[in-house]
Amino acid sequence: IRNADAAMYRAKDEGRDSYQLYEPAMNARSLERLALETALHHALERSELTLYFQPLVDANSGEITAVEALLRWNHPDLGLVPPADFIPIAEDTGLIVSIGEWVLRSACSRHREWRKRGLGDMRMMVNISARQFRDPAFFDMVVRVLAETGMPAHQLTLELTESMLMDGIQHSIELLDRLHAFDVRLALDDFGTGYSSLAYLKRFPISELKIDRLFVRGIDRSARDVELVGAVIALGHSLDLLVIAEGVESLAHFKVLREYGCDLMQGFHFSRPLPWDELLAFHESRPGRIVG
Ligand code: C2E
Ligand code: MG
Ligand code: MG
Repeated sequence: IRNADAAMYRAKDEGRDSYQLYEPAMNARSLERLALETALHHALERSELTLYFQPLVDANSGEITAVEALLRWNHPDLGLVPPADFIPIAEDTGLIVSIGEWVLRSACSRHREWRKRGLGDMRMMVNISARQFRDPAFFDMVVRVLAETGMPAHQLTLELTESMLMDGIQHSIELLDRLHAFDVRLALDDFGTGYSSLAYLKRFPISELKIDRLFVRGIDRSARDVELVGAVIALGHSLDLLVIAEGVESLAHFKVLREYGCDLMQGFHFSRPLPWDELLAFHESRPGRIVG
């Protein structure tokens, strides 16, 4: 059964909808996974999780108007583990529900610190996973954390993906409507990589669209890519959404996106995700703009 399990995990890793025959080499990987899973169980209580923050820059003013909280795991032996390596495990085990609550509470606490320092308006963007979104206690958890941390709801944006909204559309619409009525902002993350169902885009009360970096990557080289990203920006604007580009890595990317009216930009051209203290220093070092 253990071997069959290892083969199943491999099949899931390769994008589901497939099968795998067991091979001895899979045991090494499933042991690795098991070790990670065991360690992840203790990560929260041992304070091994930490948040990094990546600035989002207004395309016109050059100011930081939002930051995205990005989770990191400081593993005692492995060092900094990227979220792609452990969030799927946290999802499968259900640990993401408590980890996600910790993420939201920590991000809101940082935001309070930002306000106390009088650093100006800044929205906090927090990623939500599919399992959290389907958790019946999710809405109450959000309300409770906002109250506990004194977070103004309209300064919080929850990032969701298309695939998780399409998985149970009625539930999604109801939950999004409740969050929206509570003044929490909603963003569609990684836009363009999922279903991109335009019919539903209109029915969800989202206010921001984050264009996946796949669409941004080639716009310094390919006229076709420029056309495509321009069309996505126009689409977002026609639905009255704030359009955000991810993966802005160069001045050339920035210029094309600004020309096409993209509202906010996020990427290595401006800053990598930073530990909180470095974010504060970064913000201080650039009062105003880093446009060009
Ligand atoms: P995402 O929400 O789409 O986050 C953006 C990812 O792009 C981040 O990777 C960020 O470091 C990376 N990035 C930013 N600018 C650039 C750039 O210019 N070029 C390139 N190549 N990459 C850039 P990261 O931090 O490794 O996070 C990966 C994913 O893990 C996130 O994708 C998100 O889906 C998930 N994630 C991160 N934190 C959390 C969390 O707290 N909860 C949940 N549920 N998921 C999270
Ligand atoms: Mg995100
Ligand atoms: Mg994204």
